Amino acid sequence: MNNGELPGLYLHIPFCRSKCFYCDFYSVASRSEIPAWLEAVREEMTLYRDRFSAFDSLYLGGGTPSVLSEHDLASLFESIFKNFVFAPGSEMTMEANPESLSPSKLKTVKDYGVNRVSLGVQSLDDRDLEYLGRAHRAARALEAVEMCRAGGFSNLSVDLMYGLETQTFSSWKKTLDRVLAFRPEHISCYQLTFEKGAALWKMRESGRVRSIGEKLEAAFFLWTSRYLEKHGYYHYEVSNFSAGREFICRHNRKYWHHVPYLGLGPSAHSFGTGASRPGDTPPARRRWWNVRSVREYCRLIKDGKAPVEGMEILSREQFDLETVDLALRTREGLELSALKGFSQSQRVLAQWQKSGLVKVIDGWVQPTRKGFLVADSLALMLCDA
Ligand code: SF4
Repeated sequence: MNNGELPGLYLHIPFCRSKCFYCDFYSVASRSEIPAWLEAVREEMTLYRDRFSAFDSLYLGGGTPSVLSEHDLASLFESIFKNFVFAPGSEMTMEANPESLSPSKLKTVKDYGVNRVSLGVQSLDDRDLEYLGRAHRAARALEAVEMCRAGGFSNLSVDLMYGLETQTFSSWKKTLDRVLAFRPEHISCYQLTFEKGAALWKMRESGRVRSIGEKLEAAFFLWTSRYLEKHGYYHYEVSNFSAGREFICRHNRKYWHHVPYLGLGPSAHSFGTGASRPGDTPPARRRWWNVRSVREYCRLIKDGKAPVEGMEILSREQFDLETVDLALRTREGLELSALKGFSQSQRVLAQWQKSGLVKVIDGWVQPTRKGFLVADSLALMLCDA
């Protein structure tokens, strides 16, 4: 729920060492356009700097922010702080991948205030990493985790993937156990999906790889949730676990609760920030997104134009449905009153409860583990009713 929280700032760094087979994020496997991108993103910051009084989260995502050199990272942070203000105690996250991380990069970003690193480990089994087309292997991933700890990062998130045909329950457990030995403050476990634009999709079409099937995917999901909870982690969102409520990712939480955020860089999305401008009137239901091409992004900015590709203003009904949809992906859930506008909500709620998909606690509708499993379709049931 957006209770007047400060907005978050997202910066998309669209460069990677190589392209992972499953990846559908916008990124290019070349670093030649970094200087032009850096110049353009600095310029884009100036388009928005007068529209925000302060942020309380910064998220450098990608792509792979850690492919930037120390010099480029420093120059990026100089521009960020020249244009934007952050409230004391802001969460500042940088995504990093093992193959491009170094102690000196960690020191550089820490000196600029980064207090959270999200590391793309994915697996600690080399067969899985090869299958996924990752640029690193398990030994390097372990080194990177150690590097973060040695660099003084006490808020570390590790990204992992399950549902690979190269994986067994025992190899997945081995990966989790090795990760758990470091007690990361946060773990994200994503189910492998076959995205249409990704290489893995074509590999499946041609029969070179296959999906493990919904039944097994569900079994992995439920097992993982139980296992990590047994080890003291709080399963607070479908794919996310934290070692305590203080380690819930503040920035990502904004996406699930309609808190405004500004996204800069190619393909970045922004939401609701219209109301942050003095004089703007709510409803802040505006969403817009940038072009999905570094070249086009740089060209538009050079021509003095905003690099925006599209914009939508959600109707009240769309907004309300999305509120339910996003909130039911989180353990925190949804205030019962948010269902009021849906004509069949009483009947659907009773159905959800009967099927063990949600619990109603102190006026909040909270998904169960089984509810998380079908989180994508819960809100739709309100429309089908
Ligand atoms: S490192 Fe991340 S963004 Fe880059 S190709 Fe792999 S999955 Fe995509």
